[in-house]
Amino acid sequence: MIIIPLGVASATPTATRHLPSVALWREGSICLFDCGENTQMRMLQAGLKRSKVDNIFLSHLDVDHISGLIGLLSTLQLQRRDKPLTIAGPKGIREYVEWNLTFSNVDLDFEIEYVELEEDFKGGRVVDEEEFYIEAMPLKHHKFCLGYRFQEKDKPGKVDAEKAEALGISEDWQYKELKAGNDVELEDGTVIESNEIVGHPRPGDSFAYITDTRYSPNAVKLAMNTNILMHEATFSEELTEKAAETGHSTAIDAARVANEAQTKLLVITHFSARYTNPFVLLREARKDFFPAWLATELRPIFTDPAHEKGIIQPKVYLKEIDGKSSGDKRKHKSSGKQKRFRKRKPQKSRGSDNYRGRKKQDSGRSRRQNDKQRRKKDDGNDQPERKPRPITPRTPFDDFDRF
Ligand SMILES: [Zn+2]
Repeated sequence: MIIIPLGVASATPTATRHLPSVALWREGSICLFDCGENTQMRMLQAGLKRSKVDNIFLSHLDVDHISGLIGLLSTLQLQRRDKPLTIAGPKGIREYVEWNLTFSNVDLDFEIEYVELEEDFKGGRVVDEEEFYIEAMPLKHHKFCLGYRFQEKDKPGKVDAEKAEALGISEDWQYKELKAGNDVELEDGTVIESNEIVGHPRPGDSFAYITDTRYSPNAVKLAMNTNILMHEATFSEELTEKAAETGHSTAIDAARVANEAQTKLLVITHFSARYTNPFVLLREARKDFFPAWLATELRPIFTDPAHEKGIIQPKVYLKEIDGKSSGDKRKHKSSGKQKRFRKRKPQKSRGSDNYRGRKKQDSGRSRRQNDKQRRKKDDGNDQPERKPRPITPRTPFDDFDRF
């Protein structure tokens, strides 16, 4: 299972953060949780095929969480999708989608299966497939809002192949039966019991998506013993009151849920635009729970890195990862170095389009920086500069009192 944050902003996007959405990749199929304005573009940039989306789960019907849905559906239609798509969310989502499509004269060639949940919904499975299910429960926001848990069903135990062979198992169908928990009778009448050669079933991966909400016991239930809990942390502790007023969580609330649910990894998301540097929120969360990470757009989170790394490769350069996990590793690694190198020696420019605007920046470089560079040169120190700290650029919009 791979989790790819596509948008980690709250209600207003910033220059670097997009509206909420997260993709869950499993065996080639994608589940989307929320579908903010940017979702389909971010999928492309993340290296995810839009045609692979099979399920979309919406937390609530605020614009920032659903504004990417119609665009995505329209793209799927243009791509001539023919397999059905499931959309689950609060009641009203069907009307919203159908009205918009009718208004724009879009006649879908694929079927949408709606799972609409009424406001008195207490919780339960909204999608139940052979290998996984998704459970929803109401949260505590200013309007009806749902949290979700994705749960892989238990995987069959490992087969002790050597022992099986020694006992006379040789056919594929025999292995299949044993794996499914059934006993197999050999030609000579010997019965081989499944539990003789198949180990204990292994628990499947799990993921909980909790936004937008105040602290909620249902969030704890959904997140119980998950591999990954993605929980909103719109505000810092300082704005606890505002969080309660607006039906949101602080980083401390997110950590509390993670602790009570004993999740293996907390990932915070849904940052208010006022936090140009969300590490403030991470620091607070980490005071109470570890390991905790920041959701970083397009940076995949793996539950089985040994097998999953490389499956999802972002198509854009991610400055936060410093090139190491980006799409084309070789290319990005070197471009990362060039970037730092070129900054100090602009005359070695390769005329690339990637760093447009660099020239201006170079010519406007402060004397202090020049001095620093000269000093370094004098020292004979030709090492590349150390890694840049991840800093979110400030935009004029970030000063607004909103979230
Ligand atoms: Zn929100």
